[in-house]
Amino acid sequence: MPQTVDELFALDSLYSPDELEIRDTVRAFGDKRLRPHIAQWFEDATLPVRELAAELGELGVFGMHLSGYGCPGMSATAYGLACLEMEAVDSGLRSFVSVQGSLAMTAIHKFGSEDQKQQWLPEMAAGRAIGCFGLTEPDFGSNPGGMRTNAKRDGDDWVLGGTKMWITNGSVADVAVVWAKTDLEPGARGVRGFVVPTDTPGFSAPEIKHKMSLRASVTSELVLEDVRLPASAMLPEVDGLRGPLSCLNEARYGIVFGALGAARDCLETAIGYAGDREVFDKPLGGYQLTQAKIADMAVELGKGQLLAAHIGRLKDGGGVRPEQVSLGKLNNVREAIEIARTCRTILGANGITLNYPVIRHANNLESVLTYEGTSEMHQLMIGKALTGLDAFR
Ligand code: FAD
Repeated sequence: MPQTVDELFALDSLYSPDELEIRDTVRAFGDKRLRPHIAQWFEDATLPVRELAAELGELGVFGMHLSGYGCPGMSATAYGLACLEMEAVDSGLRSFVSVQGSLAMTAIHKFGSEDQKQQWLPEMAAGRAIGCFGLTEPDFGSNPGGMRTNAKRDGDDWVLGGTKMWITNGSVADVAVVWAKTDLEPGARGVRGFVVPTDTPGFSAPEIKHKMSLRASVTSELVLEDVRLPASAMLPEVDGLRGPLSCLNEARYGIVFGALGAARDCLETAIGYAGDREVFDKPLGGYQLTQAKIADMAVELGKGQLLAAHIGRLKDGGGVRPEQVSLGKLNNVREAIEIARTCRTILGANGITLNYPVIRHANNLESVLTYEGTSEMHQLMIGKALTGLDAFR
C-alpha cells in the first residue's frame, strides 16, 4: 500500500490527540465546504466573505490561539495545523484567517484598550465583524518605516490621511487597524495604530483587480481622506514599528505551517496523477525520473513539517524569536513554491488548468512569497542574527 508523506514521516506522532482532532476537524470542513467551490471562486475572483466568516467563526479559527473575549484559546501548534489545512484548500482562505486573527485581532488583543477589546474581539472571533490590517503603502512595503500615512491631532481628535495598498479584506472589512505616523515621537518611532470603523466618513477601500494570484481573496487599497477619529481610537499599549512588526510575526508563524498545506495538496495530486497517467505504455509514476521528483518533494515537505512543529513547540513553550519564525517562513514558502512548480511538470498540460489545484497553489504562493516579509527580508533577518550586522540599508 502506498504511504502518504505524513505516514512516511510519522508526523502524527508530533502532535497531541487534541491537536490532531482540531487538524482533522478543519480538514473535514475544508474538504466538505470549501474544496468543491474553490476553483470557481478563484476563476471568478470572488469569495463569499460574509457567509464564510460566520462559518469560520463557528469553526473557531479566528484568533484561535488568543484567550478571552470570545477567542478559542488553543495552542499555537493547533493554530498552525488549522492554517495548514486551510491553505491545503487555498492560500486565499488561509490569508483570510491570518489577517483576521493574527493581524487585526492580535493588534487589538495585544495593544488595545479594554473598550476596544470588548467592542471588537468577540464579534471578530465569531466572524460577525471582519477586520483588516493596513501597514503597506504604494511606496513602502519592505520598509514600512518610510510610511506617509499620518495622524494629526485636532483638539482631542485624530485626523488620518494617506493611502494603504495591498490590504487583504480591505473592501469587506468592518474595522481597519491602520498604522500611521504621528508627531508623538520623531520618524518611525512616532508610528501608532488606530482602530478605524470602516463606515467613518473619509474612509474608502477600492478593490484591486486583475490579480493572477490569491484570486479567492479580497485585496484592496485603503484611502484615508481626513478620517476624523476620537482620541480613544488609538491603540494605547504600543508605539513605534514594533507594534505592527510583532503582529506580522504572528501572521508569519501561520504561514510557516500554511504554505506546507498548499505543497501537500500539490504533491498528493501529482502522485495520484502519476499513478493514473500512462506515458510510453506505463504509468508515469513508474519511471525513475518521476520517482526522483516525488521523493525529493516528499523530503522537503517532511522537513518543512518538522521545522514547523519545532517552531510551534517553541512558541507554545513561551519563546520563539522573530528570526526563528523567519527561518520557517523563508524555508517553507520557498520549498512549497518549488514543490508546486515541480508538481505542475508532472501534470503536463493538465497542470495549467483549474481542473487540478496545482497551478492555483503555485500562483497563490507567489503572493505568499512576497507578503509578510519577502524572502529577501527574511534572509536579511537571518543574516543579521548570524553575523550581528544589519544589511537592510
Ligand atoms: P518592495 O518592498 O518594493 O520590494 C521589491 C523587491 O525588493 C522585493 O524582492 C524585496 O525583497 C526587495 N528588497 C526590498 N528591500 C531590499 C533590501 N534592503 N535588500 C535587498 N532586496 C530588497 N500588506 C499589509 O499591510 N496588509 C495586508 O493585509 C497585505 N496583504 C497583501 C496581500 C497580497 C495578495 C499581497 C501581494 C501583498 C499584501 N500586503 C499586505 C503587502 C505586502 O506585505 C508587501 O507587498 C510586501 O511587504 C513587499 O512590499 P512591496 O510589494 O512594496 O515590495
